Amino acid sequence: MKMTGSTLALRVLAAALAAIMTVVSLSSCSDGKKKVKETETVPVTETETETETDTETETETEPVTETEPVTEPPETEPPETEPAWTEPVWTEPAWTEPPQTEPVWTEPPAPPQTEPPAPPATEPPAPPAPEEKGEVIGHSSKGFPIEVRGGITYVGGLMVANKTYSLPSTYDPGGMTPETYSAFVRMQSAAAAEGLSLYSVSDYRSYALQSWLYQTYVDRDGKELADTFSARPGHSEHQTGLAIDINSTYKSFADTPEGQWLAAHCWEYGFIIRYPAGKESVTGFMYEPWHVRYVGTWLSIPLRDSGQCLEEYLGITSVYDY
Ligand SMILES: [Zn+2]
Repeated sequence: MKMTGSTLALRVLAAALAAIMTVVSLSSCSDGKKKVKETETVPVTETETETETDTETETETEPVTETEPVTEPPETEPPETEPAWTEPVWTEPAWTEPPQTEPVWTEPPAPPQTEPPAPPATEPPAPPAPEEKGEVIGHSSKGFPIEVRGGITYVGGLMVANKTYSLPSTYDPGGMTPETYSAFVRMQSAAAAEGLSLYSVSDYRSYALQSWLYQTYVDRDGKELADTFSARPGHSEHQTGLAIDINSTYKSFADTPEGQWLAAHCWEYGFIIRYPAGKESVTGFMYEPWHVRYVGTWLSIPLRDSGQCLEEYLGITSVYDY
């Protein structure tokens, strides 16, 4: 823009006015700072004045507004990509030695406390232990106590039924005693192993049966003869349940293999030949090779070795007193 003369005059005037105003403000104001401030404004006008001299063409330049580019951060969402399936790789686990630990000794559990099985009732008992205390009526010639319990006579603990000692009519074991039966079965088996057959033709007999039997013999043979081979009721060993007639009731039995085997081996099973030959006057009965009596091996063996009959061994008699 070309400055005209009027314009220049105006500018000079304005400058002069400004100078005047500066003087006024200095005189009326005590504030030094303001004074300095006012003074500073002066050069501004001077600068303007200087620019007046610059007559060079002025090019209006549009203010360049520097605009910082707003750059939004790019959306960086992870791409949705399906993960690829990869086959797992089998890797063998490394073997590691187990830690050496001292074995802890633990006491084994105690076996259950079980009652020992009761011995079979078939075992032959030792010398019978009387449960009921009886009355000792004396001693045998061999020193054995003679005791009566419940009407039954025991000599040295052994039940005795002969012509001297009788059983009450009510005594009834109901059959062979368990010990007697068991011993007989064992003896029977042993004989069978040698091809021999042993069987009972008569064992337990009740008081009533013996009464009938004895009377039958008396009626047939008379009392004196009948008393040599048949016991009066209450005096029969068959009532005890301990006696067995084996295979026969004839003397010829003694000559049979069974009779000979019985005479040789019955002792080993607790039996005795109750009425042996040659002892008729002691036992009160004729020889009966078939008639055995169970006493237990504790007595049968020493009795066999003694060669005595039971009355001799015990020191008792076998005589009717009526
Ligand atoms: Zn008999």
